Amino acid sequence: MDAKERLRAYLEQRRELGESDFLLDGLSVEEAMRALGAIGGGATPTPRPPRPRPQAPLTPSAPPPDRAPEPEVRATRTPVEFEPDPDELEEQAEPAPDVREESPREVTVDMKAFTQGLVVGQANGGLFEDNPFSSVRSLKALAEIIEKCTRCPLYKTATHAVPGEGAAKADMMIVGEAPGANEDETGRPFVGQAGQLLTKILAAIDLTREDVFIANVLKHRPPGNRDPKPNEVEACSPYLARQIQLVKPKVILALGTFAAQTLLDTKTPIGKLRGAVHRYHGVPLVVTYHPAALLRNPAWKRPTWEDVKLARRVLDTAK
Ligand code: URA
Repeated sequence: MDAKERLRAYLEQRRELGESDFLLDGLSVEEAMRALGAIGGGATPTPRPPRPRPQAPLTPSAPPPDRAPEPEVRATRTPVEFEPDPDELEEQAEPAPDVREESPREVTVDMKAFTQGLVVGQANGGLFEDNPFSSVRSLKALAEIIEKCTRCPLYKTATHAVPGEGAAKADMMIVGEAPGANEDETGRPFVGQAGQLLTKILAAIDLTREDVFIANVLKHRPPGNRDPKPNEVEACSPYLARQIQLVKPKVILALGTFAAQTLLDTKTPIGKLRGAVHRYHGVPLVVTYHPAALLRNPAWKRPTWEDVKLARRVLDTAK
């Protein structure tokens, strides 16, 4: 893809997302596309000063009197820091699960509702009830069971199980879909390209991988990174449920459609789930795009940045 094609693809994406400002030089997306010849009209663009972008309010204007003021978001970095280099991506793009996500719609984060304890969902799924692992007392013991798991056929094609890793008492738990090739090879979650982006995303909210606990819905890799099957999810879900019970995180960050829909027991598209605080058995849960999807759609980094800031704020509020 040459520079012109890349710019054109970028503008098309911005237009699809309903973003009309083209901040680099004050042209609107329409104007820039016309100048490129990417859409009809051909009029010479008239530069205009960039308009300030509307921002979701980060703090409620006045906190309710019976509540502590909302803490500052500690993150000081900008989302640009986890923006991948497109050239690098073209060279390294690997097939990764969970990239078929819908475009973001504009979601306003209702922090006031959040600080008042209003949440949009209360998902209790089926993952806690009758959990065959409820007597397993530690993450380590659970990981040993996962490593020998034969509850679904995926163990037959996988090299290693990927139970998850991180702080046993992490305040934030990250939940992805399933191990990919690199994870299958190493037995560790999120170590491929998407994992490197996850590390950067965490750094942008002042967290390291060691601060959080990272797990997946499925503990064995589906062959060729195909979509998980319902019987695999059913067989594997009790592990994740028990991990969440043992870690007792203050917030769960669900990465991608699959993790979000599984944990929230819904078919609602990710574009509608993100931007709000849900609950999973009482634990606040924030949904965002999967890093593998972000690698393919850099325009989604902005909504992702909003989501992870929200998760960070939930964490700070809970502390
Ligand atoms: N994608 C996931 O959902 N999980 C991983 O561990 C790696 C990639």
